[in-house]
Amino acid sequence: MNWKGHFLFAFILFLLIGYFILNIEIINLLLFAILAGFSSVLPDMDHELSKFRKISDKLFPIITFVYLFWNSWDLLSSIILTLLFSGVYFLIFTFLKPKHRGITHSLFALITFSIIIYIFAKTFFYPFFIGYLSHLLADRTFKLL
Ligand SMILES: [Zn+2]
Repeated sequence: MNWKGHFLFAFILFLLIGYFILNIEIINLLLFAILAGFSSVLPDMDHELSKFRKISDKLFPIITFVYLFWNSWDLLSSIILTLLFSGVYFLIFTFLKPKHRGITHSLFALITFSIIIYIFAKTFFYPFFIGYLSHLLADRTFKLL
């Protein structure tokens, strides 16, 4: 399944779960369903040509900088930390890139990322969790690690 298929599947799955089980109001439901769609593309970050990689390679430094600066780091520290984190990001994806449908397609990744989201951005927990889970369901890859 390509990223559009994953996005659509997660979007629809979240609409159904959000409406019938979580009782989320309509405006938030649509917004969260879109977020679930984006989350569903994440497991393919291990794929060089994936839509996620193309976008995240460009967005990672920008989002990191904005996040740091927004959270009251001074300009110089924000720039230095952005360069540092971006370096780590590119090292990981260049040298430690997991094999396709490897660890990013595992329950371990789903649970680990979900815990991180729950701690730092609790509001987005359900869209993230359901979106990421939908990718594993669509790919039918259910392994622990
Ligand atoms: Zn996949």
